Amino acid sequence: MKVLKFGGTSVGQPDRMHQVAKIVELQKGPRIVVLSALSGTTNVLAKIGEELLSGNKEAALREVEVLYAHYQEFLKALVQKENSISKAQYIINEHFTYIRSLAKTEFNEGCTKELLAQGELMSTKLFSVYLDEIGQKNVLLPALEFMAINEKDEPDMDFIQSHLRGLLEEHKDTDWFITQGYICLNAEQKVDNLKRGGSDYTASLIGAAINAELVQIWTDIDGMHNNDPRIVDHTRPIAELSFDEASELAYFGAKILHPSSILPAKQFNIPVQLKNTMDPEAYGTMISGMEKSKEIKAIAAKDGITAIKVKSTRMLLAYGFLRNIFEIFEKYKTPIDMIATSEVAVSLTIDNDARLTEIVEELNAFGAVTIDDNQSIICMVGNDVVEERGIIKKIFDSLEDIPIRMISYGGSKYNVSILTESKYKKDALVALNKGLFGL
Ligand code: ASP
Ligand code: MG
Repeated sequence: MKVLKFGGTSVGQPDRMHQVAKIVELQKGPRIVVLSALSGTTNVLAKIGEELLSGNKEAALREVEVLYAHYQEFLKALVQKENSISKAQYIINEHFTYIRSLAKTEFNEGCTKELLAQGELMSTKLFSVYLDEIGQKNVLLPALEFMAINEKDEPDMDFIQSHLRGLLEEHKDTDWFITQGYICLNAEQKVDNLKRGGSDYTASLIGAAINAELVQIWTDIDGMHNNDPRIVDHTRPIAELSFDEASELAYFGAKILHPSSILPAKQFNIPVQLKNTMDPEAYGTMISGMEKSKEIKAIAAKDGITAIKVKSTRMLLAYGFLRNIFEIFEKYKTPIDMIATSEVAVSLTIDNDARLTEIVEELNAFGAVTIDDNQSIICMVGNDVVEERGIIKKIFDSLEDIPIRMISYGGSKYNVSILTESKYKKDALVALNKGLFGL
């Protein structure tokens, strides 16, 4: 069994959706197709949700009608036959009636989740109608019947496995399954989701649950690139990556893949291939358990980083200082990314500063606190990079003109990271592209 996931842009236009059917058709054997919502839909639904939460009903309903009109246009070009048109029309009307009804209720966070789920529900149903029209037998698997998270918002693998396998058993003679990415049930059996961009995660969880031979993530770029193509001119796709390399890159900013999605794939050893819907022939990137070459494969950058320095004279020869510091971050559920220590101070970075005020207040008890915001982590990834002689020299030679605030080396064998002010990010990425890849 293969799992093929198509992102919002891959299904965002009727002709793209037709193209998706062609791509899926080229596969042999049984396959599960995971779809995102049509591009832009989740953003609009999120905005409607925010407006409703803040009591702005009129503005919300205006947005709803704009979205409705968009789906009307979409359906006209998606299907041709009378019967398909009325099926598609029925689906859209049903979901929009529901969306409008949400606007009339006492709107809360739970309603937002229900609202956000409408995008994936519509895209998969519409795709199924199109497949019916072209005579392609298919079965829609409702994600809300098998995709589940527990109290900690972690996937409930046992539930997913047993329920998904149960559903597949009911359709033994089917080769084409379709399901929604992103949406799931939570521990209270309510509609929830796997966070923005979570359809990739759905695909890899499904792959892990059914022990798929391959998970393909289809987007609009030909794989993971060696550097950020939105910022640097000359980049190239990377053909092979190990799970560890890919998860560092995904976490540190390679937008192509949801960072959590590598974990289940790695755990169950399911290869994940990144493919381009606009250029299906291109190989893309294969992510697997193989760790081949040792050079730096890619650079990724993460913005919105805040560096926090705590300087304590008492740290000299003291123990327990770091634990005290870390406990504060734990208390406010704020993950730490990079750390650098000296005998009298520790610097660390966070990317979520929602609780910064409280954190700083408590840190003050342990020393003088300095905050630097608008920082970027630039992360260089490759198997065993830290064991390769000369790599550090190349990195520092390339970054000669860039002020570096922190360095992380040796924390994992896959990654060397530096922290710099975000205003230097572009120059740093360009310089490293030249110095490390000659591009
Ligand atoms: N539609 C959701 C989003 O836009 C999930 C996804 O596309 O992966 O975040
Ligand atoms: Mg995505």
